[in-house]
Amino acid sequence: MPTTKRSARTTPELIARKRDGGVLSGAEIAQLVRGFVAGDVADYQMSALAMAIFLRGMTPEETTALTLEMRDSGRVVDLSSVKGTKVDKHSTGGVGDKVSLCLAPLVVACGVPVPMVSGRGLGHTGGTLDKLEAIPGFSVSMPVEQFVRQIRDVGCALIGQTADIAPADKRLYALRDVTATVESIPLITASILSKKLAEGIDALVLDVKVGRGAFMKTLADARALAESLVRVGTLSKKKITAFLTTMDEPLGFAIGNALETYEAIEVLHGRGPADLVECTLVLGAEMLRLGRVAKSESEARKKLEAAIKSGSGVRVFEKIVAAQGGDARVVREPDRLPRAPHTVEVRASSKGYVTQIDALELGLAGVALGAGRTRADQAVDPVVGIVLGKKIGDAVGKGEVLATVHVRSRAAAAAAIARIEGAFVVAAKRVAPSALVLDVVR
Ligand code: URA
Repeated sequence: MPTTKRSARTTPELIARKRDGGVLSGAEIAQLVRGFVAGDVADYQMSALAMAIFLRGMTPEETTALTLEMRDSGRVVDLSSVKGTKVDKHSTGGVGDKVSLCLAPLVVACGVPVPMVSGRGLGHTGGTLDKLEAIPGFSVSMPVEQFVRQIRDVGCALIGQTADIAPADKRLYALRDVTATVESIPLITASILSKKLAEGIDALVLDVKVGRGAFMKTLADARALAESLVRVGTLSKKKITAFLTTMDEPLGFAIGNALETYEAIEVLHGRGPADLVECTLVLGAEMLRLGRVAKSESEARKKLEAAIKSGSGVRVFEKIVAAQGGDARVVREPDRLPRAPHTVEVRASSKGYVTQIDALELGLAGVALGAGRTRADQAVDPVVGIVLGKKIGDAVGKGEVLATVHVRSRAAAAAAIARIEGAFVVAAKRVAPSALVLDVVR
């Protein structure tokens, strides 16, 4: 059985300590993570450790040691040549969550550099990279040197995780995925923060989504994750704030890659839907505060609103798209984005008020249409998706459009329609949509 030569304690002894509820020292966590990356700690041993952590948890100090070891398993980007406080945002994922695409240019327009390493969609939630790739020519991969140069020149680069960023996370996540150990707060904390800290940021704003369409279904679970992320971020000497935001109905109206990119561009032009604009302003205001270009939330919101009004956010997004090889004309002419050849409408069978829209069901319907993936190696179709006709609280007449399905062929819409119909609840009594921000952890 592989054991490590780096400590008096063998790998099985360390696994046993965690299994029995004990605490591992920073040096012991370093031994395990470095041994795992070097091949001295076997996959089955790391899987057993992940299950022990899942069942027994970790102290904030242990989670911080795990986070920093996973960050240091690869390259940590040096952004010291970029002036200003570098601030990123991370969302735990939701349906219709296209905030990063409009948020990053607006924050940059207000003077805060944004290094952003994002992910692809997996499961029912979409991913920023897939949405960006709906822009013809847009490339989400570049060498680290170019990433640094682009942040210096344009203020922002929007890329995917490179092979040399936190490789220990990549390998550990693959094991967690098949050993029922994903839903562990210390492991999720270390996974998210190891990648974010490797970007070379000074501060981070987190959007922890809560509800049917989110990873965390209850406020209590979401709060526990937010508190862990903030505690470990602070122990890692970063400024960090987590917002808990609602994810029962989709954010905005659009679900699907090009459709969501279109809607994010609408925000930059001052034509975005209210909930999406509000989410962008809440997260952006905190990024401006942490980035030291605004002293208060109200000052920050005014700056962001001015960046929308003046078109400076549009100009920054054009520069980002051009720098990454994309057709920058889509920023002023979003009709240039690719579109599905057919649309099929889903209509209400009774009149009343929309009281529920199940984001999880709509996310899964989007995946079934080809907008998302069920395996990491699948390609996505940029043009397919769903555009809501109604949101929670809206009045609806019998036969009115609840949603429009964008498809390559009408036959492809058939399976999605029943699912989309089932996602809407129409009732006689109106309910107000829930508040966007449920809590803030600093
Ligand atoms: N997202 C991540 O990056 N890691 C996790 O463990 C869960 C969500």
